[in-house]
Amino acid sequence: NSAAPVVTRFAPSPTGFLHLGGARTALFNWLFAKANGGKFLLRIEDTDRVRSTQPAIDAIIDGMRWLGLDWDGDVVMQFAGAERHAQVAHEMLANGHAYRCYMTNDEIAAMRAEAQAAKKPLRIRSPWRDRPASEAPDLPHVVRLRAPQEGAVTIEDRVQGAVTVKNEEIDDLVLLRSDGTPTYMLAVVVDDHDMGVTHVIRGDDHLNNAFRQLPIYRAMGWPEPIYAHIPLIHGPDGAKLSKRHGAVGIEAYRDEMGILPEAFDNYLLRLGWGHGDDEIISREQAVEWFDLSGVGKSPSRFDLKKLENL
Ligand code: GLU
Repeated sequence: NSAAPVVTRFAPSPTGFLHLGGARTALFNWLFAKANGGKFLLRIEDTDRVRSTQPAIDAIIDGMRWLGLDWDGDVVMQFAGAERHAQVAHEMLANGHAYRCYMTNDEIAAMRAEAQAAKKPLRIRSPWRDRPASEAPDLPHVVRLRAPQEGAVTIEDRVQGAVTVKNEEIDDLVLLRSDGTPTYMLAVVVDDHDMGVTHVIRGDDHLNNAFRQLPIYRAMGWPEPIYAHIPLIHGPDGAKLSKRHGAVGIEAYRDEMGILPEAFDNYLLRLGWGHGDDEIISREQAVEWFDLSGVGKSPSRFDLKKLENL
């Protein structure tokens, strides 16, 4: 894997504005690709048909342009690949890494209540996991991943270090919904594989997902990406960054505060990436110096005052 040319991507869900955290994720992916002579791709994850909006897509593309984060090739729209995603689920059914699950909502609710009573997280292992496919009735069903039950998985994350999760904690996640449409979790893996993504650099709110996504790579015999999960940005009070802290869509920093893109990029870069004491780092220097080992392990603090003084 290490010999393959670096390919990174920014994969926002267009369900709201392009916020500071997203812009920083995009910048780090862009810089890492450039620093390694690789490619940087943009994928709009519009699989949530209810919450995805065109204004959000426009705001993301507009924001990327403003920040000077150009991507290679065309923008990939995730929903357009739904057939391909479903096809992979069918391959997994055929090779035994997935199964049809006929559990009813009531049965799932009972499983949830049981987990709550035992104060355990809900981890679905359907009774259908162990029933022969020939018994599968012609009734509504979802397709679930047959996740490994024994052993553990360790991810050598480039930011978080080695993180281990026991397989018994990983659920048989849904790959295809009862209407046959693919889930987000499946789509991400198929797209990252098909787009040749070598390094998945994203917020650490997705670290748990990495453990759910890896079994799909393994089931398909695909090379696994290198992961780097970046700590989220927090407000000055230490709580997860929100509008309350003055964090808004990045266009507001441009339109209302009149911040220049170079200054904004510089601010984003210093938010969670350390390089000596230099206050101002040019784009060229950033490309030369950027390295995942410079990304801190603890959340960075957003400070509106600092941004206003740029
Ligand atoms: N679409 C996801 C999000 O906006 C990101 C998924 C990923 O980077 O793997 O949070």
